[in-house]
Amino acid sequence: MACRQCGDCCDPILLRATKCEIRADRSLEGDDFILEHWHRVSKAIAFQKRPILRESHYKGRRYYICDRFDTTTRRCSAHDDRPPICRAFPENLRTEGRPLNLRAFPQCGSNGTTSSR
Ligand code: SF4
Ligand code: SF4
Repeated sequence: MACRQCGDCCDPILLRATKCEIRADRSLEGDDFILEHWHRVSKAIAFQKRPILRESHYKGRRYYICDRFDTTTRRCSAHDDRPPICRAFPENLRTEGRPLNLRAFPQCGSNGTTSSR
């Protein structure tokens, strides 16, 4: 389904890896962009941004903000340069054999339960 550009997957970004792990592993496509533009934020800040994240939080999930996200328009300001992980969302959530679970993204166009913005 089409992206409705709600911005929820960018603000904050949900990721398991720490920056140290990304830097050490260097296997994540677009890792240079991520290391430069994504900045870790606390759980408290993430939950403040989107309270629904509190319900789905698990140990090991980290939260980031991206300095290319325009918080006024809630749009990406680096659309042509955004890394593959951004382009792949939310389909990349299927990679571990889990069903697509978008409980944390009720506005997402792939959720199938929301109306168009
Ligand atoms: S690069 Fe764009 S799509 Fe990716 S997290 Fe940043 S603002 Fe969002
Ligand atoms: S959460 Fe879904 S609809 Fe919203 S910006 Fe991300 S991909 Fe698009």
